[in-house]
This record gives sequence, C-alpha cells and structure tokens, in this order.
Amino acid sequence: MSDPNCIFCKIASGAIPAKRLGENVHALAFADLNPQAPTHVLVIPKVHLASHAAIAPDQWPHLSAMQELAQKLAKELGLDATGYRLVMNTGKDGGQTVFHLHLHLLGGRPMSWPPG
Ligand code: 5GP
Ligand code: ZN
Repeated sequence: MSDPNCIFCKIASGAIPAKRLGENVHALAFADLNPQAPTHVLVIPKVHLASHAAIAPDQWPHLSAMQELAQKLAKELGLDATGYRLVMNTGKDGGQTVFHLHLHLLGGRPMSWPPG
C-alpha cells in the first residue's frame, strides 16, 4: 500500500510537505516542485502503484479517480476554457523519474506537439 522509500508516498502521508490542491477517495493532487507550465499539478493514487505499466486489473479504479480529480482541478483552476495537457510518463523511454504513478496536469500556455 505504501513504500517507505517513496517520495510521493511520503507526500501522501504528510511526512514530506507539498502544496496540496485537492483529493478524492483514491487520489491526491499537489503542485509540482519544478513547474513546466504556469499551472503544473501532479495527481497521484494514495496507494503506491509504481507506474502505468504496473497497474493490475483490480487497480483501474485508482486511475479513474486520478482522471476525475484532474478534470475537477482543471475546471477549478480555469484551464477547461483554454485547454490543458495530461501526461503520464512511463518507464525509462517515457521519461519517468519518480516511480509512484502520477498524472501531470499542465496548462496556462500553448503546448507543442510532438513532445521531445
Ligand atoms: P516524472 O518525470 O517522473 O514524470 O515526473 C516527476 C515529477 O515530480 C517532476 O515533474 C518533478 O518536478 C516532481 N517532483 C519530484 N520530487 C518532488 C517533490 O518532492 N515534491 C513535488 N511537489 N514534486 C516533485
Ligand atoms: Zn509511493
């Protein structure tokens, strides 16, 4: 459920501070420490799931709760009118650096495609 060496588990438990922006039963949102856009929120499952690739069949409700919280925050933060990007980096080639599943909610500026 929780990994004692995981930085996002420590944020979820309150052991490490973060600017919390919202939560629901399965998910928690907080500001990214190193924002890549005017709004950059991380949405995580409250339990330790390592990555998108590691989600087990009975764990999809956690992902659904993350998506639901991301949509709620996008509205609350005023991003729904102009648009936003949801990113889930996965594994080495995906650029994942923290191995506790997380969804990046990015907005407040136009974004390019394709990603680098
Ligand atoms: P990844 O590259 O794994 O998709 O994204 C990890 C994200 O976590 C990065 O955007 C990084 O800035 C953020 N991050 C890493 N450590 C911390 C931390 O201790 N607190 C917060 N709020 N964000 C963090
Ligand atoms: Zn964790």
